[in-house]
Amino acid sequence: MSDYVKSLMAEVRAKNPAQPEFHQAVEEVAESLAVVLDRHPEYRSAKILERIIEPERVISFRVAWVDDQGEVNINRGYRIEMNSAIGPYKGGLRFHPSVNLGILKFLAFEQVFKNSLTTLPMGGGKGGSDFDPKGKSDLKIMRFCQAFMNELFRHIGPDTDVPAGDIGVGGREIGYLFGQYKKLRNEFTGVLTGKGLNWGGSLIRPEATGYGAVYFAAEMLNTRGKTLEGKTCLVSGSGNVAQYTVEKINQLGGKVVTLSDSNGYIYDDEGISREKLTFVMDLKNVRRGRIKEYTDKFKNAVYTPLDPKQDFNPLWNHKAHCAFPSATQNEINAKDAQNLLNNGIFVVSEGANMPTTIEGVKLFLDSKILYGPGKAANAGGVAVSGLEMAQNSMRLPWTREEVDTRLRMIMKEIHTTCVQTAERFGTPDNYVNGANIGGFLKVADAMIDQGVV
Ligand code: NDP
Repeated sequence: MSDYVKSLMAEVRAKNPAQPEFHQAVEEVAESLAVVLDRHPEYRSAKILERIIEPERVISFRVAWVDDQGEVNINRGYRIEMNSAIGPYKGGLRFHPSVNLGILKFLAFEQVFKNSLTTLPMGGGKGGSDFDPKGKSDLKIMRFCQAFMNELFRHIGPDTDVPAGDIGVGGREIGYLFGQYKKLRNEFTGVLTGKGLNWGGSLIRPEATGYGAVYFAAEMLNTRGKTLEGKTCLVSGSGNVAQYTVEKINQLGGKVVTLSDSNGYIYDDEGISREKLTFVMDLKNVRRGRIKEYTDKFKNAVYTPLDPKQDFNPLWNHKAHCAFPSATQNEINAKDAQNLLNNGIFVVSEGANMPTTIEGVKLFLDSKILYGPGKAANAGGVAVSGLEMAQNSMRLPWTREEVDTRLRMIMKEIHTTCVQTAERFGTPDNYVNGANIGGFLKVADAMIDQGVV
């Protein structure tokens, strides 16, 4: 670690105590940027990185709501408005009991670079709540979403801050949030993305993150003259990103053998076919069940509960060619990364945000496999959110083919940016440096142009 990164990190830790995920995200980016700051003293003297690390605005608020039994509930809501140098703040909302300030700051920080890579004019933000939607009735979810929006509405807007979904926030939640925003503001605008198709949503938005992560893997494979045809793939999670990752891998001729949730994972050596995926989509999105139920229906598959005392995740310990972590942060530790490498994995394309620990990333980079970090590989979701904003502004929807073609083009461009930038800064084939530096340069130049604000 260079002296510059060491002193920067000491300051980040001192100023942001008890935010380990935020420290981790900043350290990874700072390591990549050391060479850029050496070549460009103007960025260092303008304290660009130091400014990017400090959110432009952090909003924390009480969400008080009454559930369907008449009980009063209190949750904490947040919106981190991280950086608006290249466009309105843009990033998802996460509803999960683990949500805290540090996790949302890491996500908002990553979002700044990711959004810059998409080539679209979007700044970075993130928000959410420690509310747990799991097992709650639609009425409870609606009441919570309305209470959450009762405060959030005054901070967001189509030209200010445009939230979307993330863990625990899908089409149902976006609907309730949008309805309340519309009622409070008395306006119908593109203030949220991931909306329903008949009220301003974009075709391909639900599919975009998963499809994008697979397109990114295909681009990486293409650099070695390979395709996904016939490749065995491990996918974690079973939510939005995981489902459409499976769909696209199947379409491109690959075979997916795993899916998971926070309780355990299933292994299906016959592959999760179109028909089986339809079952999973109904199970998770309509019946809101657990992945264990897959084995009730498909008897050949094996369910393994996750043991929190175990220091590795057995999902990552199967023979395969590609891995698509699509659940949550730090789901691949150093031991998991080593298991993946020992099992012959040569492509990792991250659908989730920061799913690999710093030690795991180092193992992937040292082994020279094709490793696509989340801020590049999963940028397809926010890219199509950007396309949804464009369609909302024009009040003109595009066809499925048009959006998918644009998504493919954007993922290709992000891949090219990563490859060319890594090369230009002396670390060819290092997609981590390519993504971090590629995302940074555009934001840094915009910040210089706009003065010290
Ligand atoms: P969903 O809520 O639809 O699904 C999340 C899945 O991950 C569920 O299967 C969930 O299991 C599992 N999961 C969540 N937390 C944990 C945990 N702590 N340990 C193990 N499993 C867990 O979310 P998404 O699919 O939208 O998001 C998945 C990842 O992709 C996140 O990292 C998100 O930030 C990232 N991402 C999402 C984008 C999007 O467009 N939605 C865009 C870019 C990145 P369970 O049901 O048990 O909680």
